[in-house]
Order: sequence, then structure tokens, then C-alpha cells
Amino acid sequence: MLSPRVRALLLRLTAWWAPLLALVTVTAPPVAEAAPKTAAPIAPYAFEATQARGSYQAVGWNPCRAISVRVNLAHAPRHSLRVVQQALTQVAAATGIDIRYAGLSHHTPGFLRHYGVLVAWSTPARQRTLAGPIVGLGASRWRQPAGGSRHYVRGAVTLDGPALRHAGAARQLAVLEHELGHVMGLAHVGDRNQLMYPVIGRVSSYAAGDLAGLAALGSLPCS
Ligand SMILES: [Zn+2]
Repeated sequence: MLSPRVRALLLRLTAWWAPLLALVTVTAPPVAEAAPKTAAPIAPYAFEATQARGSYQAVGWNPCRAISVRVNLAHAPRHSLRVVQQALTQVAAATGIDIRYAGLSHHTPGFLRHYGVLVAWSTPARQRTLAGPIVGLGASRWRQPAGGSRHYVRGAVTLDGPALRHAGAARQLAVLEHELGHVMGLAHVGDRNQLMYPVIGRVSSYAAGDLAGLAALGSLPCS
């Protein structure tokens, strides 16, 4: 701790230096014009899987076929179906892929036999992977026909119903869009300004990097 006398001296010194500092600032050359122009930072995105080891081409859904999405509302908060449909609209717009709500389902993600996507809710007691701070899971499985490329054929989103019950529609939508991002083929990024950051907080919908990644997944060759 500084003694009161030293503090008073420092204050007086600061007061004495202040006009000089202001003068230096005013007479310094304009920094903005002198600095070299730099490109805008690239908004990041990443893919969950690529076609082969060392390949940069992403694995995605066949963009030339519609994706059917079914919803199991057991354990879901109220109004969840509306939130799912909003999220699907966002994913369809970002990818350009025809993504259709295909009705309700009684299946659970572990027993998904048909092609397409299932959105379901569960509880941490029923599904241990939802324990702790995790409120959602999203993933897809790919297949590779002989001579063809890998593409996703089954995907599932599982959400923590009790945790999201009091989260509000905007947060539920953000979680759902994040998990559907995984289902489409996006991986986590380290940039807090993207919805694919592992923790939902700063952004509530797809940001520039997420949108660029989803657009890339929607531009893959037909398979
Ligand atoms: Zn995630």
C-alpha cells in the first residue's frame, strides 16, 4: 500500500504530466493511415469428418436429396416442435438443402433405423451422456457406396428436456441449431463468436463462420 503522502505526490505528478501526454498524442502521426491494411479475419468453421485421411473435402449429406426430419416429443419442453421447425428453416436456408419436417416419431436416437434425422429429448437419468453441463448431443453416421464418396445418411439430436425446460425459446433454438450444425457435419471451433463454439453463450444463431461452413456442406457434389 502506498502511504497517503506518496499517493498525493503521484497524483500531483500525474496531473503535471497529463497535458504533456495529451500534447504527444495530438502531435503523433495518424496511426490509422500509417498502419498497413490487413484483410478482414476469416470466420472459422471446421468439419466433423473428411473423405479420407489427409483429405480436405468434407463429409456431408447428399445436397441433391431431401433430408427428412422426424421429432419425438417425449420429455420435450412445451412449444418444442415450433423451435425445431424454426431451426430447420435456418439450416435449410444456410445449406440450400431441402430439409423437411416429416412428422412425429416414437423412436429414440439409439434405435434409429430409417435414413434421415431424428430430434428427441431425454433426461440425464435416462441418458448418462447428458449428465453435467451437457444439454445437447448431435451427430450423424455416414456410409460409402462402392466407388462413391462418404455421405451422411442418419443423424440424431438428443436434448436434455429438464435442463431446457426453463431456458427460454431463444436459448432452446440456439442449442438446437448448434446440434443440427453437428448433424450436418460441422465440428466445434475455438471462436466464441460462432454458434459452433462448444458453449452456448455469446451468440444465439449461426454466425459468419457457421454460415460459411454450412454453405460449404450444401455445395458438396451430389452423391
Ligand atoms: Zn457441440
